[in-house]
Amino acid sequence: HLQDTVTLNNGVEMPGFGLGVYKVEDGQIAANSVEAALKNGYRSIDTASFYQNERGVGQGIRASGVPREDIFVTSKVWNDEQGYDQTLKAFETSLEKLGLDYLDLYLIHWPVHGMYQETWKAMEKLYETGNVRAIGVSNFHIHHLQNLMQASHVKPVIDQVEYHPHLTQEKLKAFCDYKNIQLEAWSPLKRGRIFDEPVIANMATKYSKTPAQIILRWNIQNHVVTIPKSTHEQRIRENADVFNFSLTDEEMGQISNLNINDRVGSNPNSFD
Ligand code: NAD
Repeated sequence: HLQDTVTLNNGVEMPGFGLGVYKVEDGQIAANSVEAALKNGYRSIDTASFYQNERGVGQGIRASGVPREDIFVTSKVWNDEQGYDQTLKAFETSLEKLGLDYLDLYLIHWPVHGMYQETWKAMEKLYETGNVRAIGVSNFHIHHLQNLMQASHVKPVIDQVEYHPHLTQEKLKAFCDYKNIQLEAWSPLKRGRIFDEPVIANMATKYSKTPAQIILRWNIQNHVVTIPKSTHEQRIRENADVFNFSLTDEEMGQISNLNINDRVGSNPNSFD
């Protein structure tokens, strides 16, 4: 189940569950986290040039012994790398650091005003030349997506956005469902700041699960791809152990009702 996939709008299959590595130190720590995840059944890793740990991530991938083609690797072009030529260059740098010869998914990290349309043209080029299997965006509001799609011929496969029970992104989710753009959750655990919500804590007791597991299960049942971060093997395992129980429709609704539109990260409009 950990390797269950979603089918992206270009036909590529992506695991619905993966490891995030934001704020994971490069070198041995990043390598160990990635290796631990892959040894425990994870098949998707989410990094970015901004995280400055692509070398460690690449080391971990090789150390795991899992064949490259069985792993789904995502990276992202950072804000100061945007624009056509810069993006092509940033992509090469990411590949070189990771020690890979293609990426599975490349994302525009934030919708930098006046830049992301040109950046997207470079992404389309990378896609059409077979350097990356799928291209998408991150932190795009509906208006950014509309703007992008008006002026392009390849549709983004994914919008990776902050998403957790305090920020359920309902309008964006409906828009993405309608356009067949997959929603992906970053900070699905709200960086650990949501575990004592009574609704979640009570369900954890009921199912003999942890609050983290309840939230990740809610992601999966909502068909939102999720990439929780941990560097601790025990938590890496715990976070993935969410395929042996189901929340009821009523419980799914109770968790969604915790929404207060509260962000831990920036509002995408501040880059606009
Ligand atoms: P997260 O919600 O995944 O929280 C991670 C933190 O939660 C950990 O540092 C740890 O403190 C805690 N935690 C994890 N598992 C736990 C467990 N089982 N029990 C108790 N505590 C636990 O936050 P995140 O790292 O911000 O988001 C996940 C990933 O999303 C990132 O690593 C990164 O890959 C991606 N991301 C993308 C963007 C973007 O702009 N595209 C922004 C932020 C994060």
